[in-house]
Amino acid sequence: MAITIYYEQDCKPAVIQDKKIAIIGYGSQGHAHALNLKDSGCDVRVGLREGSSSWEAAEEAGLKVCSMDQAAEEADLIMILTPDETQPKVYEEHIAAHLQDGDTLAFAHGFNIHYGYIKAPEGVNVIMCAPKGPGHIVRRQYTEGSGVPCLACVAQDATGDAWDIALAYAWGVGGARSGIIKATFAEETEEDLFGEQAVLCGGLVELVKAGFETLVEAGYPPELAYFECYHEMKMIVDLMYESGIHFMNYSISNTAEYGEYYAGPKVINEESRRAMKDILARIQDGSFAHEFVEDCNNGHAWLLEQREKINQHPIETTGEHIRSMFSWVKK
Ligand code: NAD
Ligand code: MG
Ligand code: MG
Repeated sequence: MAITIYYEQDCKPAVIQDKKIAIIGYGSQGHAHALNLKDSGCDVRVGLREGSSSWEAAEEAGLKVCSMDQAAEEADLIMILTPDETQPKVYEEHIAAHLQDGDTLAFAHGFNIHYGYIKAPEGVNVIMCAPKGPGHIVRRQYTEGSGVPCLACVAQDATGDAWDIALAYAWGVGGARSGIIKATFAEETEEDLFGEQAVLCGGLVELVKAGFETLVEAGYPPELAYFECYHEMKMIVDLMYESGIHFMNYSISNTAEYGEYYAGPKVINEESRRAMKDILARIQDGSFAHEFVEDCNNGHAWLLEQREKINQHPIETTGEHIRSMFSWVKK
């Protein structure tokens, strides 16, 4: 399956500059979308809860701020950037009533549309612009003249130009400067969840922890275990990110490279691959989404218990101590 990548010459800025845009929420993605779109010549208002702690910050940044209802009422494109688990309620209580035929409802992640927790009316476009990076990088790169690559998707095309709108929105956020990838809501949602669960967050943290614990249980000093299994991770990842696995392999010793081929498949083995397939299946059939939403409705009980556990883990206390003794991290 080949992907198509769109750049600045493929986008029609007027399509987004002509719209009244509401950004709902002013967190990681919200502040970046609002400020980048404003700097791209768009008419932006930020919709927040009454008494929100972000109200002042958004105003100080030079943005128009109003209630979520007013923002949704005024706008013809509404981007929902509150946490995924809050979006169905935000949509029902503050947005649905203000949607008119021809309006566009937008997201930065496909979760609620793909799993059916939000159902938009037929006359409304449903699009996505998902920057492939955290909001603070989306903003920083834009001000530096570059941009974070974005996925752009259309779930519902009511006006016939929903794709042009999605593309122009991604342009406004800065995505066209590095490239906009066309995808579907299903692809974005399922791949994003799988990546963060199996590899980036779930897989990585567990791998680092298991390596650290193996050394410490064998009697090695935790500080050295931290260096070998945690601290050096970033340098290896940087080499892979910049120039590929072959370049990382070129940079490490032959001993390390031999060890990579020898031990890697023993750690990430058939059983790990079966677990990954299982994780993917539970994402595809909606069981993961269901479980996550249940926990959210239960006050995040399971999530908070896990968070407490990792915060208490010796790898965290060791890391904090080590980072305070060395000068490589800026305060
Ligand atoms: P966030 O937690 O940083 O910010 C959410 C903001 O929403 C808060 O700052 C607040 O202004 C508001 N908010 C919080 N709870 C609310 C409620 N109950 N009602 C109304 N407003 C509320 O969220 P985020 O990480 O920017 O995520 C927003 C969307 O962007 C999600 O769909 C997420 O999946 C997606 N996304 C995030 C990232 C990322 O790196 N953070 C990357 C790509 C896509
Ligand atoms: Mg995600
Ligand atoms: Mg070493």
